[in-house]
Amino acid sequence: MNRLLSVVVSVYNEEQALPLFYETTKPILEGLAAAGWDYELLFVNDGSSDESLMILENLAAENPKVKVLGFSRNFGHEAAMIAGIDYAVGDGIVCMDADLQHPPECLAVIAQKLDEGYGVISMVRTKNRSAGLVKNITSAGFYTLINILSDVTFEPNASDFFAVSAQAAAVLRQSYREKVRFLRGYVQSLGFRKTTIEYEAHDRVAGHSKYSIRKLFTFSVNTILCFSNLPLKLGMFAGVFAALLGVAVMIYTLCTRQGAPGGYATIVILNCFMFAVLFVIVGIMGEYIAILFLELKDRPIYIVDVERNLAAPPVRGDMPTKE
Ligand code: UDP
Ligand code: MG
Repeated sequence: MNRLLSVVVSVYNEEQALPLFYETTKPILEGLAAAGWDYELLFVNDGSSDESLMILENLAAENPKVKVLGFSRNFGHEAAMIAGIDYAVGDGIVCMDADLQHPPECLAVIAQKLDEGYGVISMVRTKNRSAGLVKNITSAGFYTLINILSDVTFEPNASDFFAVSAQAAAVLRQSYREKVRFLRGYVQSLGFRKTTIEYEAHDRVAGHSKYSIRKLFTFSVNTILCFSNLPLKLGMFAGVFAALLGVAVMIYTLCTRQGAPGGYATIVILNCFMFAVLFVIVGIMGEYIAILFLELKDRPIYIVDVERNLAAPPVRGDMPTKE
């Protein structure tokens, strides 16, 4: 019997890219039948304000293998991928973008790796021409920093293009339900048999990127806070540093019997410096408290409005009506 490959595609205002994406991906997925793979193409419409949902509903009407999940509003790319994983019923689940930056030709290699028994397949960009210099440099900096700060080793250049086995997906469904999260990071920290496949990111076929530099910055900060407690310990380091400075000035004063070096300016500068360090530490604690607050409220990760061709309810989804 054929195995089932679920391809999860997050969609936010992609009316121009969707027809091209479907035309390119469908024959490739159908071609996988020769390798023993059936497919389901699960589009998650993340509250698009253009005609994306209508296009998807039409595709679902003509092809029962096209499944559509529509959110009640925009919840973000990660929420869309999480929902897709919740609803997907395949033996292997692939997450990819709708803009053809993730080449659908790679699906054949992914299916092969799943056949070989890999549980987590990370797709690694070799080139990202469309991202621009700033995005590429900040991305490299981000991965260096997160790898220093966290216990998990993250694959630099790993993208939101990845595949997981049904077993790994079950873990994501059950246990990784944080509100402030880094899905790509979770996938890499799951364990199982892991492999990477290199791919060359293409240019977006149509439309524009939804990730602004500001969004990426917030995302990076949240990720660091999610995967590392080290920032919380900064207070200790700062405390030790301030104590050592105090002792040094005291020794100097006692030895020279001339009073502290400098005068008014020294005191003001030291005061500003110490308060700055203190406030930054309070700010960092505030960030962690904000995350705790969000988790405590336990609001849904996504709210489903539309379902097409989806028979099975999710094993564990964050549905609006929770008991
Ligand atoms: N996306 C989404 N919700 C959002 C933003 C983006 O579902 O709030 C989708 C988008 O339609 C695309 C994918 O996530 O399929 C990646 O977004 P984008 O291409 O804008 O990001 P980039 O590739 O530039 O990092
Ligand atoms: Mg893209």
